[in-house]
Amino acid sequence: MMLECKNLSKQYKRGVKALDNFSGNFTCGIYGILGPNGAGKSTLLNMMAQLISPTSGKILFGGRDISLLGSEYRKQIGYLPQNPPAYAWMSARQFLEYMYQIKEINGKGHSVDEALEWVELTDRANDRVKNYSGGMRQRLGIAQAVLGKPKILLLDEPTAGLDPRQRALIKNLLRMLAEDTIILLCTHIVSDLADIADEILMIRSGKLLGMLPPDEWLKRLDGKVWWVCENEKYLNDYPTAIRSLRAGQSGLRIISALPPEGAVAAAPTLEDIYLQCFMERCDDE
Ligand code: ADP
Ligand code: MG
Repeated sequence: MMLECKNLSKQYKRGVKALDNFSGNFTCGIYGILGPNGAGKSTLLNMMAQLISPTSGKILFGGRDISLLGSEYRKQIGYLPQNPPAYAWMSARQFLEYMYQIKEINGKGHSVDEALEWVELTDRANDRVKNYSGGMRQRLGIAQAVLGKPKILLLDEPTAGLDPRQRALIKNLLRMLAEDTIILLCTHIVSDLADIADEILMIRSGKLLGMLPPDEWLKRLDGKVWWVCENEKYLNDYPTAIRSLRAGQSGLRIISALPPEGAVAAAPTLEDIYLQCFMERCDDE
């Protein structure tokens, strides 16, 4: 089934245009939404989760307007908000069982035990959430989102507060679910998407800059990334220049169509793409 966004815009009451004429089609797979703070990522996910309504435009699921599908649509959704509420007095198992009831899962899809296992909380399942670390709460948030095998999984900065091993655990889980789930994941951490995203969307000031598979993004910078020995002048000349060590030698990584004098070619990375897309400073938040 396809999720389609058609010319979505969101204007908050006394605010900026948080999302501006966004269109995109999503099928099973992982879509990584990248953009600086304030770009409109959470606004987009909140509209897909039907927590806020668009000022204009619409969202279709299986060809039908989600505002008409209502709870029939919402039952297909797993959602992890950016700041997940913590039910501190409950144990993780109680919380998941409670969510299981609310979502009216009734034996369909993944069970509470399975979800606990996936996020490695089985051993601590009977502890109260108030005694959990930030990373454990975050993993519990992910567990409630994947409960019951939703068709659409919306994850707002899912890896916040997780260490590299836990990030890998969550990446594995998402890759496994991606086969038959539409997964939208927003983040400003580029490395969260490396190796797992089928497509990457770049959003700046509410506008979609592009939606492409990672290799296609990388091709855009083929032959345009360079490394030169430390040079103060280049720091001013190239807005994306960043200090970078190469075999222990200090230098600069530079994005430029023409090679700076004395430069050697470097392989483009997603970080380079991010820098190129979001060169200006963003002080929105
Ligand atoms: P992101 O998740 O990419 O950091 P958001 O979607 O949270 O961005 O925010 C996009 C823009 O909309 C920001 O400028 C933000 O300040 C503004 N915004 C978000 N929520 C509200 C709200 N409830 N009322 C007014 N403005 C908001
Ligand atoms: Mg956000």
